[in-house]
Amino acid sequence: MTQITDQLADIRGRIARAAEAAGRTADDITLLAVSKQQPAEALRAAWDAGQRHFAENYLQEALEKMRALSDLDIQWHFIGRIQSNKTRLIAERFDWVHTVDREKTAARLNAHRPEDLPPLKVFIQINQGDETQKAGISTQAAESLAQAVERLPRLQLEGLMSIPPKSLDTGVSYFRELARLRIELNERGLPVGHLSMGMSADYEEAIASGSDFVRLGTAIFGPRSAR
Ligand SMILES: *Cc1c(COP(=O)(O)O)cnc(C)c1O
Repeated sequence: MTQITDQLADIRGRIARAAEAAGRTADDITLLAVSKQQPAEALRAAWDAGQRHFAENYLQEALEKMRALSDLDIQWHFIGRIQSNKTRLIAERFDWVHTVDREKTAARLNAHRPEDLPPLKVFIQINQGDETQKAGISTQAAESLAQAVERLPRLQLEGLMSIPPKSLDTGVSYFRELARLRIELNERGLPVGHLSMGMSADYEEAIASGSDFVRLGTAIFGPRSAR
């Protein structure tokens, strides 16, 4: 567990340097600890080292950890595929959802968000490479989904999220393309303020391209256990 503390310290240093090189500060970047397939004790160790935002992919697994860690005031982010029959619990239990890619899902999350909680903060997931194995809406369809989310009072549109193809394979800078899409949508009056992009292998590059929510799993916790 001291390893988690050391890794977090190292990552925070790298984030600060990448942010400063891009004309921003470390405070502008939110580090999400992606804790799928990690035990609750690992999350607690990260909390003890100052980590406050945690991201989970699988609802049942997340609910178990929420129970085990209910004494901690964690910001929970959902970053997995959203099945329709899971929208109620996601809307009730999470603070943020990064993987909204259909109007129907957005409408269900809106309907299920409890009135005594603030609006659910959502990112629209973009499938930049139009990869069939990945979730996300196409770049072209992003604007109409953003407009739909904007109309839903129990959702708060926060930004765009992507798990892009490897640039090495294509020569395209997908991080820069997502940053451009944000500007285009802003120019059309859509308040997509943030970019959720960059994982363990490429978060510094993502920050250089404008990311302000980076999602790191293995860099913090080491390898994941088999599910
Ligand atoms: C698992 C996962 C991550 C973290 O991946 P690492 O390579 O371990 O940093 C980030 N984002 C999403 C959507 C994931 O599913």
